[in-house]
Amino acid sequence: MSLAFASPAAQSSSLAGVTRAELARALHQCGVPEREIGMRTGQLWHWIYHRGARNFSDMRNVAKPLLARLAERHTLARPEIVAEQVSADGTRKWLLRFAPAHPGDRGAEVEAVYIPESDRGTLCVSSQVGCTLNCTFCHTGTQPLARNLTAAEIVGQALVARDRLGDFPGGVAPTDGLVPSGEGVRAVSNVVFMGMGEPLYNFDNVRDAIAVLTDGDGLSLSKRRITVSTSGVVPEMPRLGDECGTMLAVSLHATNNPLRDRLVPLNKKYPIETLLQACRDYPGASNARRITFEYVMLKGVNDSPAEAKALVRLLAGLPAKINLIPFNPWPGSPYECSDWEAIERFSDIVFSAGYASPVRTPRGRDILAACGQLKSQTEKLRARARMMLEESLAVGLD
Ligand code: SAH
Ligand code: SF4
Repeated sequence: MSLAFASPAAQSSSLAGVTRAELARALHQCGVPEREIGMRTGQLWHWIYHRGARNFSDMRNVAKPLLARLAERHTLARPEIVAEQVSADGTRKWLLRFAPAHPGDRGAEVEAVYIPESDRGTLCVSSQVGCTLNCTFCHTGTQPLARNLTAAEIVGQALVARDRLGDFPGGVAPTDGLVPSGEGVRAVSNVVFMGMGEPLYNFDNVRDAIAVLTDGDGLSLSKRRITVSTSGVVPEMPRLGDECGTMLAVSLHATNNPLRDRLVPLNKKYPIETLLQACRDYPGASNARRITFEYVMLKGVNDSPAEAKALVRLLAGLPAKINLIPFNPWPGSPYECSDWEAIERFSDIVFSAGYASPVRTPRGRDILAACGQLKSQTEKLRARARMMLEESLAVGLD
């Protein structure tokens, strides 16, 4: 494990992560005449998102006086990296802090996780600080919602990952050989909204962030390589398909309403039938663009062969993929992960029904990969450091 501490930066006025409209507004405020706004926005966009510029002075084809005006008001700062952990399997996890929203605010903290595979690299981003929904198996659900992330803060997570992985032109990849490389292979090729928070309760910012991530003149991610995971916020699902065109993942986790009410309390508002109807109606779903159904394997709770059969029956006729997720326990969690035999039995039934390789291999186990865990671990370390400091002050040491 390695920890990296960066100095807090004035991210509040950072242009790294902003939308085209916000960038145009910033240029306008710097006195750029209306007729030039489009051209200047395009130039800055290219530097920020295609080249990964960290300083305005890098932008060689932009007039110096404008760069000076921009630098007076803005930075290109990324979220601060509070902690970075690298797993033996190449999974990387960052605890990121955003600039305080107001004086006295300590700044919001979220996690982002990077999972490399041979032909792709997936970045798991957070959309909120904490979550208002209290899924009983989820560590984030135990943390109160502090706030929604802005679009820039969501995009900022991708910029940090690309910086750290050497994924911008001229960047240097980590030397551990665990980052995918080669002709046409990008370190960050996929993004999943499966970190902290419920993305569909922060729809506008998630939509704007997706627009920045997929802009062809910048970060250029394919919409088909972006997946938004929801616990089932049915009223926002059509908008996700219509306005973002990304892939959809649904956290199902149970095949009957009484159990799903217990695991995912939002089910009381939008029960399974309503949720599956929204999936049937999801704009753009097809056999080529399947909806992923996530199913966390909880020992003795939802992992029986009868439930595997019920799952297959429930999803019949839907263009679906099934993703069985071994439960990732956290300190004090009220569940255990299913035994490997139970997972195998469950996955055999699902496989025989025609769904391919449905078990998600646990990654980064050595660095506590369940979402929300790095944050609480770091908070514990901080509390311990504070305690030690107070003790040393009490005995007159410095
Ligand atoms: N709020 C959204 C997205 C974030 S959670 C949602 O619920 O879909 C991303 C996925 O991780 C969800 O499928 C969630 O159910 C799952 N998850 C949460 N805690 C987990 C844990 N401790 N072990 C395994 N999966 C977990
Ligand atoms: Fe929130 Fe998703 Fe965790 Fe449920 S599983 S508490 S919706 S982050």
